[in-house]
Amino acid sequence: MQTRQLLQKPEEQKSMIEMADAHCHLSILSDPLIIKGSVDYGVSTIITNGVDTPSNIRTLDIADNRHVFPALGVDPEHALAIEESSFEKELEFNVSMIRQNASRLVAIGEIGLDYWIGGGPRNLARQKKVFERFIDLAIELNLPVSVHSRNALKDVLAILKEKDPKLVHLHFFEGGTEEAKLVQKQGYMISVPPIESSKRKRVISMMPLELIMAESDSPVVGQDPKAVEKSLHYIASIKNMPFEEAAQIITANTKRFFGIYQKTGKKLIRY
Ligand SMILES: [Zn+2]
Repeated sequence: MQTRQLLQKPEEQKSMIEMADAHCHLSILSDPLIIKGSVDYGVSTIITNGVDTPSNIRTLDIADNRHVFPALGVDPEHALAIEESSFEKELEFNVSMIRQNASRLVAIGEIGLDYWIGGGPRNLARQKKVFERFIDLAIELNLPVSVHSRNALKDVLAILKEKDPKLVHLHFFEGGTEEAKLVQKQGYMISVPPIESSKRKRVISMMPLELIMAESDSPVVGQDPKAVEKSLHYIASIKNMPFEEAAQIITANTKRFFGIYQKTGKKLIRY
């Protein structure tokens, strides 16, 4: 906060730097003031992701399609948590919730593969089935996908290449420079969390800024969407650019990728 205030001349204090958080989970943050606080701070575009049935329902309730935009999906961890007997039914419930609300969704997400929680061939088969089901849905509805990958990037990239959804966002990109080259070739976007590492630094250095977004991954990683400022500072320092310039380009990338202008003001459909 101090850095930003120092960067602003006194007469410009009202024109804040606009920031966009490409990935977070507001459904877990119980205090609605957190959203207001983040928006007032300058994070005026927030993409919030559901991960299972209750969080998808809550995500639709929280999103106002003004500052907070919804992405719905079933992530690998929650895909594995569904009881076998209700698996198909629950999956289809989420699919129809997505279809019903497609006009106000900015992505299908969070979806993906997580081999860290992995556990046995049956679990891997289920993770892949759910991931592929939602990619098919994104293609059908012409929506971007926001993808989670942990220890699973090889398979994630192979499935994405085969299915070929139009717009792909790899959140919390875990790859190194070799995988980043593939990602760049495919024209996928990555987003950078507020955590520094030498591997991440190398990836940010080589990726064109046009393919980079910033995320807080709050409240899992950052405390709230304001943490995206740290991600932006990190990217700006690696790209050797002034913070304002990097923030402006990255915010524009995020709005363009998620089609924010077309999704603003879309009505809430209660499921
Ligand atoms: Zn997430």
